Amino acid sequence: MPLYEFECIHCRSAVEDSLKKIGKHATKKTVTDLVNKYDNIYRIEVLDLENESLLADYGKKNDSGSFLDFYLDEGTKAVLFNSEDYRFTDLIYDESDEKKLKCPFCSSKKLEKVFSSFAFTSDLSTDMPKPDLSNLPASVRNRTMITDYIEEKDRPKSNR
Ligand SMILES: [Zn+2]
Repeated sequence: MPLYEFECIHCRSAVEDSLKKIGKHATKKTVTDLVNKYDNIYRIEVLDLENESLLADYGKKNDSGSFLDFYLDEGTKAVLFNSEDYRFTDLIYDESDEKKLKCPFCSSKKLEKVFSSFAFTSDLSTDMPKPDLSNLPASVRNRTMITDYIEEKDRPKSNR
């Protein structure tokens, strides 16, 4: 079943624009203006990871939103967004389904199809996508091993 991921260009550009502005001026005024300007952004926090300090924050946390993190200045600064997710998934059976699609948050029809590891692949037997382990805690990830499943026809004869 073709399950596709889409990104709303409108909602995504709010986050992209915010990142750009925070990259220039990571101040309370900047994040306040951005949270007030964009409906889909509820809260922004800018952290200085070297000094472990909060550089700027503004907004009220919305638990039904999603949490995105970005890193600036060679990873020394983290920008945390609490916002509506600009990425969503939908089942698409034919082209007319795709034309009816709109962003669940802002209803914009300007969407971009995302090609992810979960996208439909035509031949699963030879090119199986592996699960993404990057979200697992390191302690779990280190104990998790993913090996290729070898089809019976491809196994060495001695194992049959
Ligand atoms: Zn949107």
